[in-house]
Amino acid sequence: MPPAPDWSLVIHGGSGQLTPETLPGPEAECRAGLAAALAAGKAILADGGSAVDAVVAAVSVLEDHPLFNAGRGAVFTAEGRTELDAAVMDGATRQAGAVAGVTRTRNPVQLARAVMDNSPHVLLARDGADVFAIEQGLEQVEPGWFRVELRWQALQAMKAAAARGEALFDADLKYGTVGAVARDARGHLAAATSTGGLTGKRWGRIGDSPLIGAGTLADDRSVAVSCTGTGEAFIRAGVGHEMGALVRLSGLTPAQAADRALADVASFGGSGGIIFIGTDGKPGWAFSTPGMFRARAAACGDDQVAIWGGEG
Ligand code: ASP
Repeated sequence: MPPAPDWSLVIHGGSGQLTPETLPGPEAECRAGLAAALAAGKAILADGGSAVDAVVAAVSVLEDHPLFNAGRGAVFTAEGRTELDAAVMDGATRQAGAVAGVTRTRNPVQLARAVMDNSPHVLLARDGADVFAIEQGLEQVEPGWFRVELRWQALQAMKAAAARGEALFDADLKYGTVGAVARDARGHLAAATSTGGLTGKRWGRIGDSPLIGAGTLADDRSVAVSCTGTGEAFIRAGVGHEMGALVRLSGLTPAQAADRALADVASFGGSGGIIFIGTDGKPGWAFSTPGMFRARAAACGDDQVAIWGGEG
């Protein structure tokens, strides 16, 4: 008898200096948002759907949710714009698609998927990516659609601090970014990540999220990974690729590889969180911040939704 079909899913909604006072909304609403995204991905996996479909569905729900820093609810650049980054990767083929600095597509993760499926490229940026989105017939929205007051106030607080000569970074507040990793019943892995990046970012700054092998990676030979945290440190540590190599070539478990990668990130002064699923389908997470919005589900076992350090 072949082994029973099995699937698993992990999602995150960002990590950081989370306390009951710094949550972006009521705790119950944060948990409900995570549960809704988990349910969207689960429905696909439980029905025998693909890991890629599941991660795109779960991330799309988080992008539409105003409490998370991706799609609607994204943070603002120094110029008061929303510039969105996203990526998706299929572990079976190692095909990947990503976009950086897009401004009008309602669900950037779906645009990343269109890049993967319908273009010869991996990463499209800014105006070109916006044009490609229109050509692909993806839903376009006015920039105001992404705006939520909390994020606008965060930018104003940052500017006020700068005017007083003080530096205030997102790292002092909390990180954001959303992501999902999945293993489907056929044993294929996938990962997706989407973010508004950092409040007050300038000069076309791009973080780790849309960079394959940094904030996002899926490889059926090793692990699926989605990251959140200090993007610059995650890029320098090449977290996704490093975890894949540690699992594939050094025989570490994904959990050991995640701890090793976070230590490397810390050596650059960075912090954040990682969700992962290995080839055995075991879902996991690791983070070096006080909290991380996260949830997981598997074919056998109860769903889990967690925010604080000690949970799960
Ligand atoms: N890693 C994201 C970036 O640097 C931000 C985050 O996860 O909070 O763009």
